[in-house]
Amino acid sequence: MTFEIETKQKIQLVEITSFVAHSLPSIQSGVCTVYAPHTSCGIIINENEPGLVEDIRSIFLSIVPEKNYLHNSVDSNASAHLRAMIAGQSKTIPIQNGRLALGTYQHIFLIEFDGPRKRTVIVEAATSGR
Ligand code: ZN
Repeated sequence: MTFEIETKQKIQLVEITSFVAHSLPSIQSGVCTVYAPHTSCGIIINENEPGLVEDIRSIFLSIVPEKNYLHNSVDSNASAHLRAMIAGQSKTIPIQNGRLALGTYQHIFLIEFDGPRKRTVIVEAATSGR
């Protein structure tokens, strides 16, 4: 199943947990993959606390500072590609008792690094047959 997200900022965390949960087929036990088919955004899991959300944004800015990367001669967004590479394009989440086995403080986010853009998120689930 696929859904779309419209991001509004250059770097933005968009909580997508409920979209993912509603995209799940009826599976009692298995795995769910959440995947963004893009090269300048990623999928992360963390707590949705406003201070932490800002901390996450700022750590990507310090890990990958703006500078004259070679790819900037193509479309000026090398830092977004490099930040997305660190975040990763997918997460795999166990399904137990028909639900995502997320911890109390775990939320799924699309993290945008080159917004605003329209982003696609793909959710696939497979049963473990138990
Ligand atoms: Zn590019």
